[in-house]
Amino acid sequence: MLISAVLQRWLEIPTTDPEDARRRKLLSILLLGLLGVVVVMLIGATVVIALTGVTGSELEIALLYGTGVVAIIGIIIIFLINRYYSGTIASIVFLLLFTLLAVFSDEPSQVIAGRSVFIFVIPTLMASVLLRPWTSFLFAGLSSLLSIGIALSINYVPNLPIILAFFIVALVSWLSARSLEQALRELRIVNYELDQRVAQRTKDLSEALWREQIESGRNQAILKSIADGVIVFDNQKRAIVANPSIAQLLGRSEAEILNSDIRTLMRDDVADADRDLADRALTGAELTKPGMKFRWGAKMLSVSFAAVRNPGGGIMGNVMVFRDFTREAELDRMKSTLLSMSSHELRTPLNAILGYSDMLLESVYGPLTPKQRGTVERMMANTKRMLGLINNLLDQAQIEAGRLTIHLAPFSPQDLLKEVESVASILATNKKLTFACEIEPEVPTTLVSDAQRLGQILLNLTGNAVKFTKQGSVSVRMYLADKTHWALAVKDTGMGIPRDAQSYIFEAFRQVDDPSTRDTMGSGLGLSIVKQLVHLLQGEIHLESEVGQGSTFTVVLPLAPVQEEAK
Ligand code: ADP
Repeated sequence: MLISAVLQRWLEIPTTDPEDARRRKLLSILLLGLLGVVVVMLIGATVVIALTGVTGSELEIALLYGTGVVAIIGIIIIFLINRYYSGTIASIVFLLLFTLLAVFSDEPSQVIAGRSVFIFVIPTLMASVLLRPWTSFLFAGLSSLLSIGIALSINYVPNLPIILAFFIVALVSWLSARSLEQALRELRIVNYELDQRVAQRTKDLSEALWREQIESGRNQAILKSIADGVIVFDNQKRAIVANPSIAQLLGRSEAEILNSDIRTLMRDDVADADRDLADRALTGAELTKPGMKFRWGAKMLSVSFAAVRNPGGGIMGNVMVFRDFTREAELDRMKSTLLSMSSHELRTPLNAILGYSDMLLESVYGPLTPKQRGTVERMMANTKRMLGLINNLLDQAQIEAGRLTIHLAPFSPQDLLKEVESVASILATNKKLTFACEIEPEVPTTLVSDAQRLGQILLNLTGNAVKFTKQGSVSVRMYLADKTHWALAVKDTGMGIPRDAQSYIFEAFRQVDDPSTRDTMGSGLGLSIVKQLVHLLQGEIHLESEVGQGSTFTVVLPLAPVQEEAK
């Protein structure tokens, strides 16, 4: 191991040109091999002399060892030139020495005859791989010149076939070295491209990892800093993420929350029905309604659910976001109580005022002058308006508190419209508007709903229609909307409602911001109550309106309302 490592280090030439490195390494290997051969030959000769007792002349022995030592020194010098100075010079020296060796390897006549031709071709062969492919021809030429020179020096005819053989060897050597170099060059290009690609991939990967780290760090920071409690459940409904807010909200540590399922977490702090609902909501498939509200111990929490998806779109689990609205719920309850109490307390004296005013008008306390009568009438009108406002406030408070009750029962649509007509037609005639009420013949003679609430809805809509119409007409139409629904449409030819206001006028205390209606009295509660009543009656309300043309409010109700859901 150690020897091979040392050899490896000595054979590797520190140069940046890969071709040069390859050639110099090859020369080093050749030199090392040659050194081995010379050493083995010397040892072999010594052993043979010692064992067989063969003795030559002293000159021969000196020549043998002298040549050996000179060869070893020569090899070492060429090795050092190759390693530390120049591969080309080392190769040229080596090949020239080899050629000289060929010249003196045999008797001149035999050299020409070709007995040692194999030694001559070695430099020609090696030149193509140690220097450049074409240098084989140079050495073939040199060998040829030397062969001719030797032949002439001893008066022989130069051996032309041998010279031809030199050049054929050079040609073959040139061709194979060239194709080898070509293949190596292509391999190096492929390797280079491969390296580049690997480097690019590594860079991409490290950038992606870096981005991922930043992203997850940011997400962690958001999760830690938000005030809402967050728990992420995996597909087995086990909590895998919990933020500090939820730990604080539930009064438990994050470690306590992690790995628990929602039932264990809720324990006895949450009502059975809500626990079931939350558990079912976490199956993902039932996340049709994204939020719910329930009591958790002493707290009121609103919870929303959402599926957590991986980048491929698959569901990895569900997230539950908790918000503490205990305080808001308490305030809301207090507000509703206050509203319903005060409204109730206010209604009694107002009714008394109305009663006494009526008695005054009826001359129970003696006849009134026209001026007195006018004042009492104004008193009554204002008191009625105040009573209407208080009734609205009371309804709103009751709806908000969930205390408004609906009584579903059969009723006659004919009677309902008659009742509405008796009030609305007076209002309309006072404003010189025409008023019409019609029931399409296909409407059944008996329907099921809450007739009193329907009357309230219709009076509200017709009241508004008259209030916001200066000229033209107001009409009420009852018809069948489809096989399972009937409808009430209140139509006017009034000022209309701008498109942007059409959604918000159904919110409590919202009115169209129009200078021309500022003088029209109202609380902005009517439509909000109407909409909520319609929902309680399991119906929907639609509005079609064009500014300057008029408005149509349509209430669509089920022919067969579900009894259990009526509250
Ligand atoms: P109020 O009539 O007491 O102001 P509502 O909730 O009944 O409150 O109506 C809200 C607002 O909607 C009104 O102030 C008015 O601007 C607009 N509105 C309602 N009905 C009509 C209608 N038929 N034509 C035009 N505007 C209407």
